Amino acid sequence: MFNEAKKLIDKSNNIYVVGHIGPDGDSIGAAFGMCLALRKMGKNANVIMQQCSDSFKFLPYINEAKKNVEEESYDLLVCVDSSSNDRLDMLKEDYDKAKSILMIDHHKKVNPYGDVNCIVEDLPAASEIVYDLLRAMEIEIDKDIGTYIYTGIMTDTGSFNYASTKPSTLIAAAYLVEIGVDFGSICDKLNHTLKEPKLKLIAKAIDNMEVYYGGKLRYSYVSYEDINRLGVEEEDAEGMTNYLRMPEGTEISVYVRGKSDGTNKVSMRSGGNVDVSKIAIHFGGGGHVRAAGYTMRDDLEIEKQKLIEIIGGRV
Ligand code: AMP
Ligand code: MN
Ligand code: MN
Repeated sequence: MFNEAKKLIDKSNNIYVVGHIGPDGDSIGAAFGMCLALRKMGKNANVIMQQCSDSFKFLPYINEAKKNVEEESYDLLVCVDSSSNDRLDMLKEDYDKAKSILMIDHHKKVNPYGDVNCIVEDLPAASEIVYDLLRAMEIEIDKDIGTYIYTGIMTDTGSFNYASTKPSTLIAAAYLVEIGVDFGSICDKLNHTLKEPKLKLIAKAIDNMEVYYGGKLRYSYVSYEDINRLGVEEEDAEGMTNYLRMPEGTEISVYVRGKSDGTNKVSMRSGGNVDVSKIAIHFGGGGHVRAAGYTMRDDLEIEKQKLIEIIGGRV
């Protein structure tokens, strides 16, 4: 599967790597892991990223990310962790400057794009595909590259807890630990450290919880005004579904948050009996069986009722 990707990389010199808007650990891990590996191959490679949560700022070189492409054109754009090209964290005009596009992703196929696709829906993280690609290309994974790949795998598997975790995932993680990745510190920074405003947002999201269908669905909404008032950065206002799904008997948890642009971002998690990616795709988004999302662009109450109804037909 990686032959075509290797050919494309071999013939390219000026390369940009991009993940999805509102980058999570996997998007950041796959993008920077790939970029650092490309530099090791002697390529002129850079990551395009608009902004990310402060919680990732401990990662090496993270502040080197560029916001735009300065050149008129470039050889290759590597897109990671984004199932459609309208969610890439870059300007459309910069996307159009690429001579070739390589897509590396693990979401349900929605709108594959680009010249070469490395899509493995079975793997829990795009970062694990990057790991496989680098191993297949016999590129040495050093500690910095490994730190990014480990971050991507750890965050998208809920620290190896989700059912999406494969034996190959654990083997990759073991390899990364063996080459010196400081997994304890990554876990501490991303799982056990947060800013006080975020803790208050968690309390707010739990307080706003609404319960439907005898507890099978738990829903919470936090407005942009509340997020802003609490002093939480927009990129950091995530992760509430993990708490909402904790009460026994919960099948689906939904967290909706207001965004500064007036739209509402929907995050869904499922215990596995309901495929939430189908619901997300129905509303124009995407994701996986157990984790999916989309953007609500119309009136919140109307959109909310539509969502609750569609979930009611499935739980
Ligand atoms: P999140 O709840 O933001 O962690 O997202 C859960 C999963 O759904 C991730 O794999 C996302 O890539 C995917 N996802 C979230 N929002 C969207 C969207 N608007 N379009 C496509 N996929 C999405
Ligand atoms: Mn992601
Ligand atoms: Mn991912």
